[in-house]
Amino acid sequence: MEILDAKKAVVEAGVQLVKKGLIQRTWGNVSCRVSDTQFVITPSGRDYLSLTPDDIVLVNIADCSYEGDIKPSSEKGIHANCYRLRDNVNFVIHTHQTYASIIGLSGLDINEIEGESAKILGDSVPLAAYGLPGTKKLKNGVVDALLRAPSSNACLMLHHGALCVGNSLQEAFTVANELEKVCKERIYNRFYEISGNTAKSFYEIADYIAKGLAAGKDAPEIEAYDSVRSFGAVEMKNVSTGEELMVELESGMPIDVTAPLPDTAILHCEIYKNRDDVNAIVHSKEEATLAASKMGRTVKPFLDDFAQIAGFTVKNTVYDPNNALRSSKKVIKKLKRRDAVLLKDNGAVCVGKDEDEANAVKLVAEKGCKAFTAAEIYGKGKNSIVLAESILMRVIYKAKYSKKK
Ligand code: 13P
Ligand code: ZN
Repeated sequence: MEILDAKKAVVEAGVQLVKKGLIQRTWGNVSCRVSDTQFVITPSGRDYLSLTPDDIVLVNIADCSYEGDIKPSSEKGIHANCYRLRDNVNFVIHTHQTYASIIGLSGLDINEIEGESAKILGDSVPLAAYGLPGTKKLKNGVVDALLRAPSSNACLMLHHGALCVGNSLQEAFTVANELEKVCKERIYNRFYEISGNTAKSFYEIADYIAKGLAAGKDAPEIEAYDSVRSFGAVEMKNVSTGEELMVELESGMPIDVTAPLPDTAILHCEIYKNRDDVNAIVHSKEEATLAASKMGRTVKPFLDDFAQIAGFTVKNTVYDPNNALRSSKKVIKKLKRRDAVLLKDNGAVCVGKDEDEANAVKLVAEKGCKAFTAAEIYGKGKNSIVLAESILMRVIYKAKYSKKK
């Protein structure tokens, strides 16, 4: 393929990956073979929606050397090995897709794939051993997995995501979509095996698991608001009704004195006053996050991106609007050095330097709570990522990776 055409295809694939929800934020990476010796790949840590063909980097398969000043993806070694090991592969996508990422926590390959799915994926999808992102250990784990299942078009990456390969961009996307479908089905089937219940939504699975582990007393139900900092005020928006109002940052009181006081007005203002780095707050009551909040326990990291962006752990605390100032102080303490905190029975509060970042925390928090649930249904609830590695990833993410976007 011509280099420019390959670069254009990679840019287009990046946009599609974001739009289809197969990756979050700047994670994942895409490449396209241009010859027996070279491929082009996305740059490291950059926003997919702003990439142009000039940002895509030409890399040598043999030694991953590259020309120019733009740093290629930190997973270029994995992509290079796909092209080296598989002559028929011309397109590689590394995704952080939800169900493929969380089924990896079973610790097992996906076997006995049948029918149409087997034609697309192969009859098994191997699981690669864990390694921190961008490391030789991760690359070697993926190479071992690819060698173990030479006819598989996908590979799971433990605590991380998935790798999908194809002859063309379309084929690689078909693999990613089919993989997600198969993994989701298997997780729901596993839930049926352990509980005897057919789940209609992931909430039912997460809620079943959370109830089995529930601790602490019930908390009052609170209405969710998102907000942004706006000079000496905070613009708040009711998540269910869309109604908006302004509150004064200092007092947490509505500027229009006739407006009702949102349950979380004081909490949001206290977070802004205590965290200079926060300019947006998103309150998530999505299914797995809401269920996890009912547990009254800390959610440990089972996926790398959760450790990086939400925090090396996400703690849980009661927020009581009738005792707003005092409970806000507790929430802020639990949020320390993290970007998400669970409010007992009420989902999670996710923070960011802007709305985009806060929404990315929300996506990753939901996926991380799903991951925690999946680990439990496979009896691997104790196998979270070790704390030292989670902290290391969080520090690198905050100090370096997140700044490249
Ligand atoms: P890059 O931004 O360096 O491609 O890394 C993203 C990722 O998913 C690492 O595993
Ligand atoms: Zn990744």
